[in-house]
Amino acid sequence: MLEPERETTVAIYTRIIFWLVALSTAVLPVPPAYTQELYQQTAPLMHTVVEVKAYGDNQTATTIAETFSEMERVNNLLNNYNQASDISAINASAGKAAVTISPETYSALSDAKKYARLSKGTFDFTVGPLISLWGFNRDQPGLSGTDPDITKIKQVCSLVDYRALQLHHEPSGPTARLKHIGMRIDSGAFAKGFAADCALTYLSKKGIKNALVAAGGTIRAIGLKPDGQPWQIGIRHPRNNSTFLTVIPLHDESVSTSGDYEKFYYKSGKRRSHIIDPRTGKPVTAMQSVTVIAPNGMASDTFSTALFVLGPVDGLALVEQLPGFEALIVTASGEVLFSSGWPQKKIVY
Ligand code: ADP
Ligand code: MG
Repeated sequence: MLEPERETTVAIYTRIIFWLVALSTAVLPVPPAYTQELYQQTAPLMHTVVEVKAYGDNQTATTIAETFSEMERVNNLLNNYNQASDISAINASAGKAAVTISPETYSALSDAKKYARLSKGTFDFTVGPLISLWGFNRDQPGLSGTDPDITKIKQVCSLVDYRALQLHHEPSGPTARLKHIGMRIDSGAFAKGFAADCALTYLSKKGIKNALVAAGGTIRAIGLKPDGQPWQIGIRHPRNNSTFLTVIPLHDESVSTSGDYEKFYYKSGKRRSHIIDPRTGKPVTAMQSVTVIAPNGMASDTFSTALFVLGPVDGLALVEQLPGFEALIVTASGEVLFSSGWPQKKIVY
């Protein structure tokens, strides 16, 4: 028990502190909820290097680490080289029963089907059998013998058709089925874009407003830098990896580059690169690189592959019809072409 005098002094101090606190919250400006500090993490993921940058408070480093786990989770569903993925389950069951898949895989595949249709099948995620035929399914791509003959190519081409993927919503959950035995989905042209979208959804859910996710050839950004400027993205020179062709601002959109330098081998003096034209069944030789800006990662990733196949004339014509899409193309001869709204036409080739 306190003495009466002491009690009074304590009571007075308590009251003063109460009023000071009350006044300070009522009159003084509330300090900002977070300081805009840059946090970043880089790690190998999805057979490439992934980088996440975000501005936020001291929780941001933890949020970024969780974002990596989120991308790993999504990649484990979509990676056709992972035997336990949803995509591997669909491939193993081709021509047989439908398999139950996760909502994320359903969402990625229904978008992939939509973009395959929009690109007139030049982006076709069922290219799996052609990827194996040309030896791009290995860590060291290449063919031990000669090029596959035209009969074999035609035979394998008949297994490539995105329309043969059946997607349904059953009471037990979403399902997928490839109609014919031997068909195989290859997620190489869309998984990184989809994972970048999932990463930004996760960051936004955690209250991050200004961030960038770079997953191999796909970079998606939200918000601005603290100076109010958009993120600046360097577009790699297709023949000199220490030079940028150009630098573009990126604001609440995504950019992807597909290049003939990513995965290739030489056969009889000719470069065979990893993007295959589903219409001919052969690797595309007409392009060095294609960069596409689109509203999200899934769209920029799939369309950079589609335009690589379509070539400059049909590719640019398609992009001009799609709101929010722009493209920069470097042809095999080194000619550089842009869509009408490409943001930065100054290039160094
Ligand atoms: P990167 O993987 O370098 O980002 P892309 O996004 O262009 O490049 O994807 C290329 C990968 O997509 C290939 O390695 C292959 O797995 C797959 N692929 C190749 N050709 C096609 C195509 N026409 N449509 C869909 N996927 C393709
Ligand atoms: Mg792509």
